[in-house]
Amino acid sequence: MVLWREYPKGECNAAHGGSYTAGPMFLSTLRSFNSNFGIVAVLGYLGLFVASFLLMFLFPLGALALVFVGIFGLVVVVPLSAGAQALERAMNRRRLAAGSCPMCEAGSVRALPEEAGGWECPGCGTAWTVEGSVVPS
Ligand SMILES: [Zn+2]
Repeated sequence: MVLWREYPKGECNAAHGGSYTAGPMFLSTLRSFNSNFGIVAVLGYLGLFVASFLLMFLFPLGALALVFVGIFGLVVVVPLSAGAQALERAMNRRRLAAGSCPMCEAGSVRALPEEAGGWECPGCGTAWTVEGSVVPS
């Protein structure tokens, strides 16, 4: 499992600069985390609902505490989601600037014309915006 890979200086693209770059497994894990984040958050809140419904009869103060956990949990959940998406876009931009596709790891991406912006991978057909997010097809 390669989480981080060190590119030797001179051997790799100048965008890497011999610094640490996250491995493909970390990026694919982050991508699946971001794409499934909505359903995981909904299931978490449904679990809180079921727990607080049961606690209403067993320990009413626990149900009241879970209400506040649900409300103030948004303070954690929303920045966590935004931060993970921003990290994924930054990692995508770094790979695209180095000329490799973040999705299929193969081939060389080609930059789209200036007015369109972004990149396109001839291998897997994925299009990327300038910000590093996937263009929905
Ligand atoms: Zn590709």
